[in-house]
Amino acid sequence: MVEHQLRRRDIVDEDVLRALERVPRELFVPERERRRAYEDAALPIGQGQTISQPYMVARICEALAVRPGWRVLDVGTGSGYQAAVLAELGAEVVTIERIAELAEQARANLAAAGYDRVDVVVGDGTLGLPERAPFDGIAVAAAAPELPQTLYEQLRPGGRLVVPVGGQRAQRLEVIVRSPEGPAVVHSVPCRFVPLVGVEGFGR
Ligand code: SAM
Repeated sequence: MVEHQLRRRDIVDEDVLRALERVPRELFVPERERRRAYEDAALPIGQGQTISQPYMVARICEALAVRPGWRVLDVGTGSGYQAAVLAELGAEVVTIERIAELAEQARANLAAAGYDRVDVVVGDGTLGLPERAPFDGIAVAAAAPELPQTLYEQLRPGGRLVVPVGGQRAQRLEVIVRSPEGPAVVHSVPCRFVPLVGVEGFGR
């Protein structure tokens, strides 16, 4: 997967490639999807949700430019896979999921894969976690209609927010840095994610 679907495309960060090599994706997909675990595809994980495509996980982690010891908020836990990759990169990860059943499954997946230091919280990730802010980085794995202001404000100065922004069908993955002049969009590429559902997302 790493060699053919990530390195041969445009993922160049060796730390990210190594992290994806180390996290066993088969432990984050339901039993019936295990034979497809290393395809470069989003796969169903129940509750109408999906585990993200490995390429997009790599893209988000590369764009976040995580350094060991960073405090990272991962919004949209899903299976817990992206949270595990962030932890493998040396981040201290707290991840938030709105669907309690998925959060519970993600805790089990993370424990089975040996990432029991990842903290899984149930709640509306569009509101972030003010009591745990500021974050060095925030990664959002669901599409927001516009830049989520509350999440931006939970970044430390110079911190990075990576979030798909746009309509429900297609978005751009934006990399936003918190700067004294306000949000600085430093990079943006087309992408497609499930909607972020919440107060600063799409309505329920
Ligand atoms: N990154 C995850 C993984 O590796 O498995 C997959 C994320 S999946 C594409 C998007 C997730 O975001 C879904 O599990 C969905 O329930 C969750 N979600 C959507 N809106 C949310 C919100 N406001 N707060 C927290 N989670 C949310």
